[in-house]
Amino acid sequence: MTERDASPLHAGDPAPHRAAFLHSVLNALHAHIAVLDHRGTIIEVNDAWRRFATANAGDPGRCSVGVNYFDVCRSAITVGCDAFALDAYAGIHRVLTGEDEEFHLEYPCDSPTESRTFVLHVVPRGEPGEGVVVSHENISDQTKIKELERSVDALDAFTYTASHGLRQPLRGIRNHAEFAIGSCSAATEPVVVQSLQSIQRLAAHLDALIDGLMRFARIGKMAPVIRRARIADLAAFAVESLHDTAHDPTVEISIDPDLPVVLCDPALIGEVFQNLIANALKYRTPGQCRIIVGWNHDAHWPEFFVTDNGIGIRASDQAAIFDLFRRLHPGDRYGGGAGAGLTIVKRIVEQHGGSIRVESDEGAGSTFFFSLSPPPTAA
Ligand code: ADP
Repeated sequence: MTERDASPLHAGDPAPHRAAFLHSVLNALHAHIAVLDHRGTIIEVNDAWRRFATANAGDPGRCSVGVNYFDVCRSAITVGCDAFALDAYAGIHRVLTGEDEEFHLEYPCDSPTESRTFVLHVVPRGEPGEGVVVSHENISDQTKIKELERSVDALDAFTYTASHGLRQPLRGIRNHAEFAIGSCSAATEPVVVQSLQSIQRLAAHLDALIDGLMRFARIGKMAPVIRRARIADLAAFAVESLHDTAHDPTVEISIDPDLPVVLCDPALIGEVFQNLIANALKYRTPGQCRIIVGWNHDAHWPEFFVTDNGIGIRASDQAAIFDLFRRLHPGDRYGGGAGAGLTIVKRIVEQHGGSIRVESDEGAGSTFFFSLSPPPTAA
């Protein structure tokens, strides 16, 4: 008994069952598939092929069973001088004669309403010369995603380089302002001193914005390095790195020791905790500051949170705080800032496949929840 005969798919009366089974498999596929004989005549097509021919070929009979596929390619070459049809013709021919083991071709296939990219795969059917299986697959979505990713990468690289370039002259402006302030004497007009101080303050703010842009672009340029990491350790390390404030007796930070071990980029997730805890410390109310780092045990997938009893965020501002350079407070209030921290946090979380949200009431604290993978789809 051969391995094929032993398969449950071929048990009983093999030939009709196998044909029906292969038919169902072919029809279940999204790719448009045609089987050609040794002359290139179409001897079998799947439902996707038929649907595509009906929707796109005008006359579906032009490429249905019994038609020679090389004739279809030839007419495309003559009618439209289509270079891709010529390539397809030659590629299919080479696989049919056994000259090549397989053939792939990516080609544009625009409809009147959309621009599309298809990929043609050709593989032999049985022995060389017996025939081939031709499949056309619409890969427009994957192509668009790749193009989008390339554009985002290019934008990140540009942002990083441009920010880097801006820093140098800005440092010069800050240094000159500092020198000029140092050179002021009692006789200098107060308005001059104030102007120089404003230049210095604005330059420092611009420097913080550029720093935020560079950090944002850097995250996009880096591929996460995924490892197993104890979330409790990452949170503890983040607190340690903020130790000046964390050792303040008016600050209590508790970290759930049962926080799980997960697969993530530890450096990036450490940065997430550092940002969220730094904000919890920064946007506090007078009196005791309480921060809890924990996770939702009940959730079907780990969702971590950083909660505080600080100033809270109005419901109408909660979506905007994740936008770049979006601050809810003017100037140096609450220690100032560039308004880039939460945008960076969101980018890191989304890079991991997760999402972030905030629950907050003005004056009653905030809780930032984030996951590192998408929630399971509803059953
Ligand atoms: P930055 O702190 O530099 O302003 P972020 O992007 O970290 O930038 O935060 C954006 C804004 O969100 C902050 O300006 C602040 O208004 C608000 N925010 C962030 N975290 C908290 C928090 N824990 N409590 C209250 N407001 C917060």
